[in-house]
Amino acid sequence: MAKKGKISGKEKVDIRTLMKFVEIFCKENHNGERDPFSFRLYDIKEIEKREISLCPDCTKLLTYGLTMRLKCPHDPKPMCKKCETQCYKGDYKEKIREIMKFSGMYMIKHGRVDMLYHYLR
Ligand SMILES: [Zn+2]
Repeated sequence: MAKKGKISGKEKVDIRTLMKFVEIFCKENHNGERDPFSFRLYDIKEIEKREISLCPDCTKLLTYGLTMRLKCPHDPKPMCKKCETQCYKGDYKEKIREIMKFSGMYMIKHGRVDMLYHYLR
């Protein structure tokens, strides 16, 4: 993928946000085994400066989400729900919506509105 290593500031923010949302959701909802997350198209540690651990299901979802984000054909990227491309399909769409809702509430309760602000901008 041509974009590897050349990620824009906005992409970085979106990727970090997505990772954080999925991480919170997984930590609060899934008790199974978790493995450090790695993403073949981009070095996660370069963005996040730490490792995040996810269960197999969340790993799959986050991989999908990050892939879709990096493949987004629109520049600047519109808000996903207002976008005509609708790259999240079926189960993924439902799941990511659930995660956004859960982790969004979690952040409000824990005073992390700054993260939320980034996402809604
Ligand atoms: Zn999980």
